[in-house]
Amino acid sequence: MEYLDYLRTRFPETPEHIIIKADALRRGIAFDLQLEDLAMRSCTTGLATRDGRQEVSAPSQFHFCSDDTTVDIIVDEDSPYRIIEKEPEDYRLQIGSLDLGKIYFTSRPGYYDRTTSEGRPVQDYVVQRGPSCLLVTPVNICAYFRGGDACRFCALSVHMDHERESKKLPMIPDYAVLGEAVAIAREYMDIKEIKLNGGSLYNLKKEAQCIEQCLTHILSAAGPIEEATVFSQALEEDQQKRLKDAGATNVFFDMEAWNERLWDQIVPGKAKTVGRAEWLRRLEKAVGVFGPGHVACNFVAGFESAPISGFLTQQESLRSYLDGFEYLTERGVIPSFTVWYPLFDKPSAPKTEYYLELGEGLHQAILQQGLYRDLGFSKFGMDPPTLGLYCYFCRSVQFAQDYPRLINRKIASTATA
Ligand code: SF4
Repeated sequence: MEYLDYLRTRFPETPEHIIIKADALRRGIAFDLQLEDLAMRSCTTGLATRDGRQEVSAPSQFHFCSDDTTVDIIVDEDSPYRIIEKEPEDYRLQIGSLDLGKIYFTSRPGYYDRTTSEGRPVQDYVVQRGPSCLLVTPVNICAYFRGGDACRFCALSVHMDHERESKKLPMIPDYAVLGEAVAIAREYMDIKEIKLNGGSLYNLKKEAQCIEQCLTHILSAAGPIEEATVFSQALEEDQQKRLKDAGATNVFFDMEAWNERLWDQIVPGKAKTVGRAEWLRRLEKAVGVFGPGHVACNFVAGFESAPISGFLTQQESLRSYLDGFEYLTERGVIPSFTVWYPLFDKPSAPKTEYYLELGEGLHQAILQQGLYRDLGFSKFGMDPPTLGLYCYFCRSVQFAQDYPRLINRKIASTATA
């Protein structure tokens, strides 16, 4: 509570829900066990839920009723944030005795009980994020994890292996069945966006082929979808063009870390397969192929200053990222960052003010380059007309996409003392 007040004083221009979101993403949310039945009625596809990091079954996200700001729920019993049921069906986020506002949850999708023609649950193939986004995995394995070149912060690969083995999923799914699963899910939800995000392969050509085939099958089985966003390693220009022809509208070529000196150490697989200089070159090429506002690069912010010998101080890391944001936005690439939820030495990890400074720096960099228009914002205080890179529902482990939505927004507050 005192810390939240401190953040409000230190960032007086930052919208309240951005401050709360950044802090709740970094410190997690205590979840009342009596609310576990909520999980049975809600979407439970948050990364923290799925990779077994938390034992409590909780909805994957909550949304503030007043403005739809969406926050991933990472359960942490030590967190000062708490979700409570004030009255039946009246859920609130609280810190101490302060009610921070009324919240709701995305309903459990109707396709949870459906199976594909080969008898496998649809939910083995698709992951719902928010009310209108589906995520699918073109490759159920990250080769870097097996080859000893995994990104150093990554717990995702463990989750991928665990999920693939527990569900007996093939490393490369049958894309015809995956397309069928998306078509079934579409019967229950208004899919505006499909996201294709799987593991990385040393053989980049193969990775690109898998994504292309996966997307082609989905669109042919489920029909046209407004946006198709691909998360992959930095592909060559001809591979980018093929993906665009197949229906991709946006790409994320995630560098994960910016600092030049540490890059090879933090993402050894990506360094071997593409290399940092070439990665940057391909990001620029992608702006030519997909257009400004359609190419992004994500970072796991804070990891460069993890308490590891030779890593950066938090100030150095902050400076390094702000330089990176400037470099990328000058070239029409949209940087984004995830709040790193450390699995070790939590007290030494960056505090919320680090992330809010980073968020403000990113907002200013995008503003200076005039890129908000390319992201669909003709003015501040509105939700973007299309989801694309600035989807505020599914990218709920981030908060940068909320600046243009929430600045100047007229909100009916639901917070009470
Ligand atoms: S490329 Fe890196 S971040 Fe992505 S799944 Fe593999 S190890 Fe994890």
